[in-house]
Parts: sequence; structure tokens; C-alpha cells
Amino acid sequence: MGPPIIESLLRPGLIPVKRRAVAAHARRIFDRLVKSRPVNSKSPLPAEVRVIERGWLNCNQIVLRAPGANVLVDSGYVSHQDRTVALVEAALEGEALARLINTHCHSDHMGGNAAIARRYGARITIPEGEVRHVVPWTPQSVWMERFDQRAEEFAFHDTIAAGDSFDAGGLEWQAIAAPGHDMDALMFFNARHRILVSGDALWENGMGFVWPEAGGHPHIDAAMATLSAIAKLDPAVVIPGHGAPFTQVAKALATAASRLKAFAEDPAKNARHVAKALFIFSLLDKGRMAVAEVPAYLARVAYFGELNEQFFHAPPESLGEWLLQDLMRSGAVAVEGGFLRATAKA
Ligand SMILES: [Zn+2]
Repeated sequence: MGPPIIESLLRPGLIPVKRRAVAAHARRIFDRLVKSRPVNSKSPLPAEVRVIERGWLNCNQIVLRAPGANVLVDSGYVSHQDRTVALVEAALEGEALARLINTHCHSDHMGGNAAIARRYGARITIPEGEVRHVVPWTPQSVWMERFDQRAEEFAFHDTIAAGDSFDAGGLEWQAIAAPGHDMDALMFFNARHRILVSGDALWENGMGFVWPEAGGHPHIDAAMATLSAIAKLDPAVVIPGHGAPFTQVAKALATAASRLKAFAEDPAKNARHVAKALFIFSLLDKGRMAVAEVPAYLARVAYFGELNEQFFHAPPESLGEWLLQDLMRSGAVAVEGGFLRATAKA
């Protein structure tokens, strides 16, 4: 069981997020809780579990080593697939890869599936609920065109569902439903070492964005329930889809929960967050974009128009202005010679 304070924070209505002082107080309590908990911060992961930390365009690759039965979790974004294969080869030290399992089928987690299949002929397993997103394969059915994202079509061999378990790295992993960022996502938990492979359900400082909705917030509710499920698992270490593995799990849960609560109270705030996240993702994919091209880009990619129509109600030309100002103020982008680039690691 997680510390009771997590449970109470995850219950809706308890954090008045607009009163930052209360949230800060909760954070201090969490910090104390976390500090008082013994963790082996030097090597929280067994040697069989190797994490290839990538950036924000490519998710992390997790290589679970076992003789003759190496398993990879998630394959990165399509445009960096050669680098992904090279990194996986290095982590495998010349051994073969038996299986690739995806936490979810977003473009930054399955974009390298085809390349990994070509290199290793590995068995590819995707979450059962993701099948409808990738079969049939069309740019639209996998929702990428709408967001200006890409992936390469891949064939999968079987599926995995919540409640299933699998062996990897000589350890048993249980698949657990992780709806929210992706309603069909899974996370994987090893009870012996209390390791959670969280995908985009929980990062050290947040989580994958959650779709905004004009009425109600089913995705946010689902994401909250997933955080609650994570608190109950009480992982000693979380290997997130992006960023380094971390042991201060209670703190991460509190951060994610308070953000979700703020988004539930202000859907437009969430919509702005999603617009920024998608734009930065595209910028990481492209490398750079002419500042002068931003308004035309936002007009061309359907989802930005949809967000504007539903949440911002701004004249289309002011959308780019707001986005650029906001991203520059936060340091998420830098401008050089009339070109925009993301400051985050791809
Ligand atoms: Zn991701």
C-alpha cells in the first residue's frame, strides 16, 4: 500500500490547486515521507534490467537481459530508428533479441518496431487495446496525420492485456492497465524488486499529456485512477517512458496528481499544455522550423485548429504568437537566425 497521504491526495476534491500554498505544503510532507524511506539509490535496478535513456522524441528503451530470451520494451520514434537499433545492439552485447513488447502504440514508443523486426525478427507484442489503432494501418487510423507525426507500419505477433504476465530478464512482469495518456496503455510491474515500467503514465516530473475534453474529463479521471493504482503497487523504482529511472515515487505521484487536478479544473489550460507538447514534439522531429512558418504550420496541422475551435477561440493568426511567446518564456524553444529549435533532447 502507498502512504495514506497519497491515497488522500488522489481522491478528487482534496487539493485546492488554485491555492498553491496547500499544494506546496503537501509537497513538503511528501518530501519528508520519501526521505524517510530506505531506498538503494546507488543501484536500484538489477543488472538484468538495462535502461537506454533517450529524450522526448524517442521514448526510453528497456532491455531485459536473459540468455536466449532477451526482451525489449518500446522502440522509439521512426526518424531515429537507426540510432535505436544501434543502442539496442550495444545493450545486447551481440546477443539476439527474442521479443519486443510495447507499453502503448504512440509514435514515440512503436516508431522503431519495424526496424527492430528487420534487425532481429523478434516476436512483437502490443497491448490488446492498441490493435484497433494500428489495424488497418493508415496514417489517419493511427491518428498521426492529425498531429503531424509518423511511424512505420509493423506486423505484430500477439497481444498482451492487463492481468497477463510475462518473463523477461529472468523476472516475472505483470501487465497492469494504465489508461489516461493513452486509454489502452499498459505498465509492467515486477513484484520481487518492485520495479515499475510506467510508460507515459508517470514520469519523475509529470506524465504524458492527457487529451482535453470540453465536457467532463474521462481521460483525466482515468489517469488519476492509474496514479492511484501505482501508489498501491508501491514501486521502489519507476522506469518511465521518458527521463531517468527514479525512486522518489510518492513525490512524482503528487506532482502528476496535482497537475491533473489543475487540468480538470481548467480544460483550456490542459489544451494549451497539449498544444505546446505536440508542437515541441514536431520541432524535435524536424530539428528546426522557420519562425515565419509557424502560423502556416499551425493552420496546416488539423489538431491545432481543433484545439483553437474548442478551447482557445482565438483568431488563427494570434495562435502562433501566443505559442511562440509562451515557449520562449519557458525556455522550451530557442531562436537562432530566424529558426526555432526545441531545447529538450530528442
Ligand atoms: Zn512517450
